[in-house]
Amino acid sequence: MPELPEVETIRRGLQDIITGKKIVQSKVYDSPKSFPNSPSDVNNFLYGSEITSVRRRAKVLMIDLSTNYTLVIHLKMTGQIIYRGDIKFGAGHPNDSLIGELPDKSTRVSFDFEDGSKLFFNDQRKFGWIKLIPSLEVKNLPFMQKVGPEPLDDDFTVEDFIHRFERRKNTSIKAALLDQTVVAGVGNIYADESLWGAKIDPRRRVKDITNDEFKSLYNEVRYVMDLSIKKGGSTDRNYVDAEGNKGSYLEFARVFRREGQACKRCGHIIEKIKHAGRGTHICPGCMH
Ligand SMILES: [Zn+2]
Repeated sequence: MPELPEVETIRRGLQDIITGKKIVQSKVYDSPKSFPNSPSDVNNFLYGSEITSVRRRAKVLMIDLSTNYTLVIHLKMTGQIIYRGDIKFGAGHPNDSLIGELPDKSTRVSFDFEDGSKLFFNDQRKFGWIKLIPSLEVKNLPFMQKVGPEPLDDDFTVEDFIHRFERRKNTSIKAALLDQTVVAGVGNIYADESLWGAKIDPRRRVKDITNDEFKSLYNEVRYVMDLSIKKGGSTDRNYVDAEGNKGSYLEFARVFRREGQACKRCGHIIEKIKHAGRGTHICPGCMH
């Protein structure tokens, strides 16, 4: 599943590439659920519009249009966004569609720009979608109302971070970190990595975590997500530059998918357990 850093990678790429381009046509490939918009809205507010900016909230992308409408995109499990023009760019679910001939059998929607370049939305499992809605209504979407603050925002303080967990005092710290209403966009990889960094056992209750541990966790969450964005996301195969570039945060992971290997901090063997319904990687030697 694309995580926040992959979606941010897409946002940065698109912001540079498609801002200012004019959309002249779109096509939906036998999957109406992927693009549930009325033909009249598409005609009136999509065609002829220019892209003014590309934003992100948690794992949701927003492409703002000069008509004051916005394309809201949720990649869900297997979504990809791929640009093809004088340059190639793509990110999201890691498979060969990112570098192959398009459209292919996973293509759900495509957009044609005036200059002949194209943007493809691929989604093997069809859980993702693109909705065209008035820009002013974006903030009223149920998802936007519920989702927690962005952990990487400059004004998101350690005090804010601690305060967000007060609503989940009796769950485990890992379950609370994964809860998107507590903070936005912390997926399984980043939960395990940041808990290891802060030396906190993922199974401990939120109410038993000290303020010093929360401070350490806050710094770790920001560190691992920031590093992952710099590496272009967390997937094993990463095609951010369409050349099959394999640079990935996972090469830098300290505990995630390292079960059976020695902990780089204390030398104990890393274990994989099941917790909060997820594969959870821990070092029994250096967590408390
Ligand atoms: Zn250790």
